[in-house]
Amino acid sequence: MNILVTGGLGYIGSHTVVSLIETGHKVIIADNLSNSNKEVLDKLNSITNSNILFYQIDVTDSDKINILFEQHKLDGVIHFAGYKAVGESTLKPLKYYYNNLLSTITLAKACKKYNVKKFVFSSSATVYGDNNVPFKETMSLLPTTNPYGETKVMGERILQDLVKSDPEFEVTLLRYFNPIGAHPSGLLGEKPNGIPNNLMPYITQVAKGKLKELHVFGNDYPTIDGTGVRDYIHVMDLAEGHVAALENIKQGVHIYNLGTGNGTSVLQLITTFEKTNNIKVPYRIVERRQGDIASCYADVTKIETEIGWYAKRTLEDMCKDAWHFEKSTVTLV
Ligand code: NAD
Ligand code: UDP
Repeated sequence: MNILVTGGLGYIGSHTVVSLIETGHKVIIADNLSNSNKEVLDKLNSITNSNILFYQIDVTDSDKINILFEQHKLDGVIHFAGYKAVGESTLKPLKYYYNNLLSTITLAKACKKYNVKKFVFSSSATVYGDNNVPFKETMSLLPTTNPYGETKVMGERILQDLVKSDPEFEVTLLRYFNPIGAHPSGLLGEKPNGIPNNLMPYITQVAKGKLKELHVFGNDYPTIDGTGVRDYIHVMDLAEGHVAALENIKQGVHIYNLGTGNGTSVLQLITTFEKTNNIKVPYRIVERRQGDIASCYADVTKIETEIGWYAKRTLEDMCKDAWHFEKSTVTLV
């Protein structure tokens, strides 16, 4: 298939581009580089031994998106482009609502206009709010604690309404759990700007000595050891999950969790990272982080039974590849 990947130079998008090309699909990337770098394109070309078509455009720019759709016969889109920093979204809600919603609407309008009916959307486990684990696709969504989460809930609704109005659309909403790790080459991975908000990049930067110690946000949750539990999934598994979802896409709206189904606590992740990589990660327990929930992990039965996809890589693989990527990146002090 000929697939437009928006946000294809970002963390998850770039790994998905590799999987798409390796399985024989053609890819066109649209990214405005607001949270990525053109160097990623060179790395993608080198890993896949190809010359990927890239447009540096903003997906909210309907004129440019329409030109792209006119120039290329697309079979489908995978829409990753968006902002994702939870904390920033509470400080700058309009920035998040504008970019995340307008990009989805602009892209969906172009799909309608140019008769491109396959649409895969990056959603998030955050839409479940503080439901009881494991999270199932059939659960009612609960309010999220931040504007970022609300943009995902609204993005899902916009696409659901589109399908109600035009049943020929084939829309898959993928609710990601916690992607970590990196491409095994060490060329692609997660490179946050400034101090990381997420656990794994924080761990790798502490291990490297860029940051002094990890702050563990709370040890009084009702979990195995009191620290927060999440469903960490290797980003390459997540990437392969997109290819499986795309290749099995069908009419209507279909929602799938992309996780492993296993919950891991913060302390368990630290211990696994230390053992796998034979390196210490100094940490200190601090107050809970506002807005965090105790446990978040997936019920993965639906995607396994309907599509036959499941995550294959272990927590050790995630820790090994994340550390390999961190060691491969140049530290600018
Ligand atoms: P990322 O920031 O690494 O990648 C997003 C990419 O989109 C970046 O390259 C950025 O430059 C681009 N972009 C942003 N706005 C754009 C616009 N208007 N036009 C064109 N390009 C634009 O993020 P990621 O971790 O790869 O996440 C990809 C998607 O998955 C996002 O929609 C995110 O909300 C969602 N998601 C991520 C996670 C996670 O933990 N990383 C979890 C759940 C859902
Ligand atoms: N966490 C932590 N210290 C950090 C970053 C995160 O203890 O510096 C914890 C956080 O409280 C949560 C888990 O690690 O229990 C995963 O957090 P992350 O921000 O990576 O993902 P999310 O909260 O979005 O699931």
